[in-house]
Amino acid sequence: MAKKFYNPTRMCVSCRQRDIQNNLLRVQCIDGQIEAYSSCGRSFYLCYACLNEEKKVSKTLMRVCRSGDKDKLMNKLKEIIPDDRKS
Ligand SMILES: [Zn+2]
Repeated sequence: MAKKFYNPTRMCVSCRQRDIQNNLLRVQCIDGQIEAYSSCGRSFYLCYACLNEEKKVSKTLMRVCRSGDKDKLMNKLKEIIPDDRKS
């Protein structure tokens, strides 16, 4: 059977829910700072539900980036989130 409408799903690193890639933000950590995915290196995904929960997402970012600098991570994250996906 042809998988014509198959959409690969990815897991949100924060809530571990799966969703299609289009509904997730792909990011990576470089030297303890969050960055938009630049096509190389290890990346991970965050869903927009989590991205709108600042407390939750800041905890996740500190964990995955191994950084305690929450403000730095959150400020950068806000730059990465596309304007049309901000609440
Ligand atoms: Zn999530």
